[in-house]
Amino acid sequence: MTIDKILEKKRTLSFEVFPPKRGGEEKSALIDTIKQLKDLRPDFISVTYGAGGTNAGEAVEISGEIKRLGIEPLAHITGGPSTPEDIDRVSKALLELGVKNVLALRGDRPVDFDRDYCKHFPHATDLIKYLNGKFCVGAACYPEGHTECRTLRDDIVNLKKKQNLGAKFLITQIFYDNSYYYRLVHEARALGVTVPIIPGIMPLVSAKNIPRIKSMCGSTIPLDFRNMIESYSDMPRVMREIGLNYAVYQIIDLIAKGAPGIHLYIMNHADTAVEIFSRLRTVFDELF
Ligand code: FAD
Repeated sequence: MTIDKILEKKRTLSFEVFPPKRGGEEKSALIDTIKQLKDLRPDFISVTYGAGGTNAGEAVEISGEIKRLGIEPLAHITGGPSTPEDIDRVSKALLELGVKNVLALRGDRPVDFDRDYCKHFPHATDLIKYLNGKFCVGAACYPEGHTECRTLRDDIVNLKKKQNLGAKFLITQIFYDNSYYYRLVHEARALGVTVPIIPGIMPLVSAKNIPRIKSMCGSTIPLDFRNMIESYSDMPRVMREIGLNYAVYQIIDLIAKGAPGIHLYIMNHADTAVEIFSRLRTVFDELF
């Protein structure tokens, strides 16, 4: 089923996985992860895609495995430097596997990119337009604003373009302060963005991940949470417990305030999803 239709009926639970760099053991470990995730009855599992399609083959293959296991895949596709022929090739492969849902993205640009780098698909909007009609298309959004955007308002004006060109739902960048999500939803609605905005949550289970989150996503880590993490950064089990409970707190607050679903970035770790699920079993059973 397409994700827009699922969202019309119910609140969604979904996970993001990424294709392993090496096949073999890493690939079979990911398939095992997906089998464990299936027990949590996700509405869909999304599969990341390298900027510029560097791992297109592996990404398509993993989407196919998810489909074979009876779960709806959401295949990410990045436009960026790709040609229309590259996008046609990956679209055909996905359609042949029965994949109906894609997340259309631009992908990060290299620091030294030149004028011609994103000739065909300079923005996600160009890819959404290209893929609309072939797939149910979703897109990305940023509670704290995309790093290239001068103001959140400018970013939301571009979100409206994504919707107008066919995006049926949005998934957010990681955030640790829910008020950024509520502000995004509020301002997006005021500017006419009506599609569901699914919050993306990444349990922060290791202090080592803080610099990576800051550099990759620019997400603000609230001071209270940061203090908790830093106080126990040398006690990994305690740190993990704090990170999981903080994610649980974020999820409960989001659900109570009407979020249309929860998308969990689990970094291919099924145990993270299983632990969150076990803490919230009744919430997922009764409210999803
Ligand atoms: P865009 O929508 O093009 O936005 C980039 C900037 O351009 C923003 O500032 C926006 O406001 C502006 N903009 C948008 N449209 C227009 C327009 N028409 N005219 C002028 N300005 C415009 N990266 C990967 O490489 N692979 C992945 O699988 C992947 N998955 C992701 C999943 C999610 C949920 C999110 C939130 C991000 C993901 N990313 C992924 C990262 C993403 O590719 C980067 O954040 C990238 O820099 C922007 O992608 P975008 O699709 O948001 O681009």
